[in-house]
Amino acid sequence: MPEPAAKLPAAPAWLGDLDRELDGLKADGLYRLTRSLQSPVGPEVVLDGQRLILAASNDYLGLAGHPALARAAAEAAQSRGAGAGAARLVSGGFDLAERLETELAAFKGVDRALVFSTGYMANLGVISSLVGPGDAVFSDQLNHASIVDGCRLSRAERYVYDHNKVGHLAELLARTRGRYRRRLIITDGVFSMDGDLAPLPELAALSRDEEAILAVDDAHATGVIGEHGGGSLDYYNLSPGLVIQIGTMSKALGALGGYVAGPAVIIDYLRNRARSFFYTTGLPPAVLGAARQGLELVINEPERRQGLKQRAGKLRQDLADRGWLVPPGETPIIPIIVGSAHRAVELSARLLEQGILIPAIRPPTVAPGTARLRLALSAAHTGEHLSRIMGALDKCR
Ligand SMILES: *Cc1c(COP(=O)(O)O)cnc(C)c1O
Repeated sequence: MPEPAAKLPAAPAWLGDLDRELDGLKADGLYRLTRSLQSPVGPEVVLDGQRLILAASNDYLGLAGHPALARAAAEAAQSRGAGAGAARLVSGGFDLAERLETELAAFKGVDRALVFSTGYMANLGVISSLVGPGDAVFSDQLNHASIVDGCRLSRAERYVYDHNKVGHLAELLARTRGRYRRRLIITDGVFSMDGDLAPLPELAALSRDEEAILAVDDAHATGVIGEHGGGSLDYYNLSPGLVIQIGTMSKALGALGGYVAGPAVIIDYLRNRARSFFYTTGLPPAVLGAARQGLELVINEPERRQGLKQRAGKLRQDLADRGWLVPPGETPIIPIIVGSAHRAVELSARLLEQGILIPAIRPPTVAPGTARLRLALSAAHTGEHLSRIMGALDKCR
């Protein structure tokens, strides 16, 4: 019989500390709860029992809830089972993972690709294996948290350059010539909170001149931008060369999992050095099956991203015409800047009352004074969804 709780010693101090910190978050309006999704992800969902228009997900092409992906997942599970058993280097990886890697490499126009469990782990793996003590990493100020964490994990010297300011980066690179064994420049391809693009042509030229490695995290770009949906290099019509392309299968591709695509030597190196690759269990068949199907739809149904681009452009224009502050852009991430955190939270709550979920993004995620609604459009949103969103926003003026 376990001892009754009442006889346990009084709560230790550290437990009280944690509790007080949570109270502090509540007082500051920063306390978070997870909501319960009772439907597939799509333009309309059931969340905590409420039917909502969802303009908050990264499911840009409407594939997360697509029946073809669910079917592919089920078939892969039927034929290969539920789990991977161990890390790929220990007990072997599924043939499905290898096929996915071949398909991703072809899609990205490079030699090889390596699949990771998530995009987060891909970033940890790339950064911490390519640079370490005695090296330097140059990271855009607005890069994703997984890049920030990868930089910290690497123990390389960290330089944060002003957002998209190539001049600032060039200065840092010029100043650090010859000081390090290796230098890595890393940037989001499409920035998650502003939906703007990294200046890749300039970054690529700079990395060549300075003999630095360039890695681009195309989590929000793959499947969405570029003539072939290939991401930021495709958008700028740049050949990949030595650029390392990182990404995720969890956004436009509708499934889960990260990848790194690039020259054979780099991929080979990562497979042998990236701890976030070899100390974790391989992706399960269902996820691999769904990701392959998602990629196939990205390639074979270009009308999804074309329609999305066109509708996102029109929505930006309509919002601006109605007086909302919407920076220009070319991606389905549409920030509606409202200023104060309080106002952003209030707007988001009023939209929710009207059956629309558009999250408020506050500092420190974004700069003070630029709190916003982050509207993320999907190819699955219909014209009617958009007019309902617009109508609800109008009522909030
Ligand atoms: C979402 C995201 C990731 C993480 O990808 P997951 O597969 O969800 O772990 C990494 N980088 C960027 C820029 C992202 O937006």
